[in-house]
Amino acid sequence: MSAVLAVVAETDHGELTTPTLECVAEARDIALERGDRIHALLPGSGVAPLAEELAAHGADRVTVIDHEALAQFSADGWLAALEPVLKEARPALIIGPDSEYGRTWLARLSGRWRMPLVTSCSRVRVVEDGYPEAYRFTHDRRVHERLVWARGTMAGFMLAPGVRGIGPPRPPEHTEIEIVTPKLDPTSFRDRIFRTLPPDPSTVDLTDAERIVGAGLGVGGPEGMSQLQQLADLLGATLGGTRVAADRGWLAQNRFIGTTGKIVSPKLYLAFGISGAGQHVAGIGNSEIIIAVNTDRTSPLLKMADLGVIGDLHEIVPLLVRKLEEAMNERAAPDQASTPSPTIEPVSSAMVPDGAERP
Ligand SMILES: Cc1cc2nc3c(=O)[nH]c(=O)nc-3n(C[C@H](O)[C@H](O)[C@H](O)COP(=O)(O)OP(=O)(O)OC[C@H]3O[C@@H](n4cnc5c(N)ncnc54)[C@H](O)[C@@H]3O)c2cc1C
Repeated sequence: MSAVLAVVAETDHGELTTPTLECVAEARDIALERGDRIHALLPGSGVAPLAEELAAHGADRVTVIDHEALAQFSADGWLAALEPVLKEARPALIIGPDSEYGRTWLARLSGRWRMPLVTSCSRVRVVEDGYPEAYRFTHDRRVHERLVWARGTMAGFMLAPGVRGIGPPRPPEHTEIEIVTPKLDPTSFRDRIFRTLPPDPSTVDLTDAERIVGAGLGVGGPEGMSQLQQLADLLGATLGGTRVAADRGWLAQNRFIGTTGKIVSPKLYLAFGISGAGQHVAGIGNSEIIIAVNTDRTSPLLKMADLGVIGDLHEIVPLLVRKLEEAMNERAAPDQASTPSPTIEPVSSAMVPDGAERP
């Protein structure tokens, strides 16, 4: 018998978050196996236009829960707004992104309903005839745990961001979209957001970072790392790298990327002295742009990078730092007659898409 799978949508600056679309995609996989229906709940203020996007990614029904008090997240507010809709929907499962939102409001719902809630899920399924099943990361992602509940148990699952990815939108299908306005009293919310501070790139979690400077064994040691840190600071990037760099103590253990580390999805991944072993590359596949610097033109990462530079990072990093500092100084003092900046001498490098020779 077909069941309802509830997906809780989250937005950021007026857009659906990528982890939300991953949750819809995960629910879609379950629904395709079992003929279930996906009911997406979209709380917020003025977010109704996003319902179409949820529909395009697989929601069969979207309930927009619209109230100006939901313009900013509040766990009390979300609980008051979403609980009645979920009660009526009677879902078999609730799936939402593993985010600070879910970890507050969904955790409260789970306590209230005495419902199991699982964080850090990499995969959610319903096996055989209705047994909810989840795979989740534990022990700093070193262990993968499988959990199964008794048939028919309603459970909440929070999907780890950046693990499963998003499929292409499906062809248009009929989706029911409704808008409800809950009765909310914002003065009763015990928690609310007053302002959001931009993340500090040096401490931001790698999974949330927009720019990452990656360090590999080729960096050579702490001296090379401090050069990369300088570059990361100038770029507003955060430092990450390979497991072997972390094992040598050059990086904190929560800063390495790959199958046994973090799965990242930055806009820019700048890799220095990283060969591109499969275990590392598995963690960077969602990066929008990859730039790799390596002395070895046959290194696998150079081949998969959008821009590959053959060269010694110990020459290239100080050069980049110098050029960025100059550019910043010029921007800071636009009125001063600028001294001509030194030209970049050709480094012993070339751009190499897949081994092509430098022109
Ligand atoms: C079970 C298991 C799990 C693993 N999980 C992970 C994981 O999650 N993440 C991970 O990263 N690794 C993981 N590894 C390790 C992985 O197999 C590789 O060993 C590792 O990714 C290689 O790191 P690297 O690229 O820094 O080092 P190397 O492979 O040694 O590469 C160093 C690169 O630096 C280049 N280089 C050297 N000097 C310079 C220079 N001056 N300028 C420019 N380039 C230079 C070299 O040409 C070389 O390509 C795992 C291994 C195992 C067995």
